Amino acid sequence: MSRSDALLSRAQKVIPGGVNSPVRAFKAVGGKPPFIAKGQGVTLWDEDDAAYLDCVCSWGAMPLGHANPAVVKAIEESAALGTSFGAPTAREVMLAEAICDRVPSVEQVRLCSSGTEATMHAVRLARGATGRDLIVKMDGCYHGAHDALLVGAGSGVATFAIPGSPGIPASVAAQTLVIPFNDLAAAEEVFAAHGEKIAGVILEPIAGNMGCIPPVEGYLEGLRALTSKHGSLLIFDEVMCGFRVARGSAQERYGVIPDLTTMGKIVGGGLPLAAFGGRADVMDHLAPKGPVYQAGTLSGNPLAVAAALATLDQLTPEVYDRWEEIGRTVEEEFLIPATKQGLSYHRVGSMWTLFFKDEAPHNFASVQRCDMGRFAKFFQSALNHGIYLPASQYEAIFLSALMTKEDTEQLVSGLRKSLRS
Ligand code: PMP
Repeated sequence: MSRSDALLSRAQKVIPGGVNSPVRAFKAVGGKPPFIAKGQGVTLWDEDDAAYLDCVCSWGAMPLGHANPAVVKAIEESAALGTSFGAPTAREVMLAEAICDRVPSVEQVRLCSSGTEATMHAVRLARGATGRDLIVKMDGCYHGAHDALLVGAGSGVATFAIPGSPGIPASVAAQTLVIPFNDLAAAEEVFAAHGEKIAGVILEPIAGNMGCIPPVEGYLEGLRALTSKHGSLLIFDEVMCGFRVARGSAQERYGVIPDLTTMGKIVGGGLPLAAFGGRADVMDHLAPKGPVYQAGTLSGNPLAVAAALATLDQLTPEVYDRWEEIGRTVEEEFLIPATKQGLSYHRVGSMWTLFFKDEAPHNFASVQRCDMGRFAKFFQSALNHGIYLPASQYEAIFLSALMTKEDTEQLVSGLRKSLRS
């Protein structure tokens, strides 16, 4: 028995399903997950010493490779000074300034510890600031595992959400309206019916949790106009695409400025740090200045802040250019040729998905029509060729900005073989 399989057996006795987050269990693709022993740059090694080219990058949180020397140094130096104070620090001010400098919508920002927290707080703030209860979300967008947003849609254009999990009260889910992504007419309809009760609209400006699906032309602009007209807040959840698709995130890339923005993954440099921010007059509603309560013992944790600063510092305009080039190479050499085999894709910069269906999807319902069996075969074959992909058709693939020409060639050649076998 491999060491990974032995660890999985042990884990299943003491951890539900053997994993600390469900997608790690490989349920969508079958087989057993390798247990990861270490990472260096773009490579991961499992407990049995097999090496993989990492295209998960901790679900997007590691843009500059594993054990990045500057990040490790920053964490070590910070750890030597104490790991948590629960009090203000100079470095967290620097990080807030770095975020406000980069992300166009963010005039003020508050740090927290996970993307789930960031969207949970943003939703409360939107409700507190507007005095309204309803939240609109898009079918297939994921914003973390909390009650208000872990809801799925039924059929129909606008559906009052049903709970996405046992344990979520129907009365809570009923405060969330779910409409299809990339469908402005559906948004107009929901505002025509409930406009004066809608606190905010939250979406991933580039969907990454139904595979990578960019917004269709005019969609983000349309949502911006609609929310402004009705006095609702537009919330971009940039936990996944933030700091990845542009220095100033998707809002800079598309030129649409939301009221609030949630951030995670890259902004934490691989440590548990996330953030939400936006218009100063909206952020002013937060305690201690305003009445909307939000807090966290480990918020602005010194180690996480050190990793975050060391990461953002390295993400220079040159790195973004190079990152784009890596993505373009994979598109030209693998994705475009793959369309000749009845497949389709979307790519935005360094995030992309190959869809096992002939027409590229623009919403969740369309992704559901992919050939999931064929995806699972491709995934397993890629793993056998030493390429570590996200274990679901509903996930985006992430490229590291550190990938060299040789890494890119190895990736393209491995992906081509995986598609053939
Ligand atoms: N929002 C988006 C867009 C995400 O992709 C995720 C996680 N994949 C979250 C929120 C939740 O973040 P976390 O897992 O850090 O709680």
